Amino acid sequence: MTIKILDGKSLALATEESIAQQVTELNNDGIFPTLATILVGQDPASETYVKMKRNTCARVGMKSIAVEMSDKTTTEELLSKIKELNDDKNVHGILLQHPVPSQIDERQCFDAIDLSKDVDGVTCLGFGNMSMGLPAFGSCTPAGIMRLLEHYQIEIQGKNAVVVGRSPILGKPMAMMLLNKNATVTICHSRTQNIEDIIKQADILVGAVGIPRFIKHEWIKESAVVVDAGYHPEKCGDIDLENIELKASAYTPVPGGVGPMTINTLILQTLQSAQRSKI
Ligand code: NAP
Repeated sequence: MTIKILDGKSLALATEESIAQQVTELNNDGIFPTLATILVGQDPASETYVKMKRNTCARVGMKSIAVEMSDKTTTEELLSKIKELNDDKNVHGILLQHPVPSQIDERQCFDAIDLSKDVDGVTCLGFGNMSMGLPAFGSCTPAGIMRLLEHYQIEIQGKNAVVVGRSPILGKPMAMMLLNKNATVTICHSRTQNIEDIIKQADILVGAVGIPRFIKHEWIKESAVVVDAGYHPEKCGDIDLENIELKASAYTPVPGGVGPMTINTLILQTLQSAQRSKI
């Protein structure tokens, strides 16, 4: 059996070329796709993530506006900044970098982002719409995973999909996206019993736990499609991928699988928002 490597790095790179071309076309029509990034405080990891997102915008010729706010910012001040960006016709996407300082009501601020500009897929309304099959941008990591599965023609309908993790940005939307594609979905979390037995039933397995190599090689079903969303400093994910070629029919490498698809999806969704603004 030949194993499929779900190569997110190559797909993201190829998509960047096509995005850059479409950005140029929009520019010719006088539209300049623009992502506004909001960074509150000086968390070094968050600073790096925002920088990576802005660098990707620059690579595809897309504009980005960096909003930087102090770590003393209040919920009201952040809401007012979001409103200003919502009202700005030249802004097509708004990214509020998580986490914000603890005095801020993060959920309220996420939900203040206009649905049409929620290119990071963080609003409750966007999640609800996506779940109901209505228009909305998906949360970028699971939406990127779905793009990867589609690109490699992975069959989803009727398969047993197991998502390990239920965070609002990853596990939950992932489960809904797989359900919308007619998988039979089980979501596992920290209180799940017999997790090993559930994972052993997975035709499609998504690791989104945040614990290095949490999912063991022995738990993976023969010929499963293995998607590892985790990334840890020891350069491994949430699934033990050693000798994975002996078990799985397809898998996402770490690094180079899911990771590159996340920012790529953010940029793609910003482009789509700008394209819609033309109509
Ligand atoms: P998170 O918010 O910490 O959520 C982790 C989830 O795992 C929670 O639902 C938690 O369950 C569950 N969990 C924790 N311990 C468990 C256990 N022992 N057994 C079963 N479930 C357990 O993490 P996240 O933001 O979703 O991220 C998950 C992973 O994806 C991390 O490795 C992160 O680095 C990675 N990630 C990657 C990208 C990317 O761009 N590639 C983006 C986002 C995240 P409870 O709900 O019960 O607590």
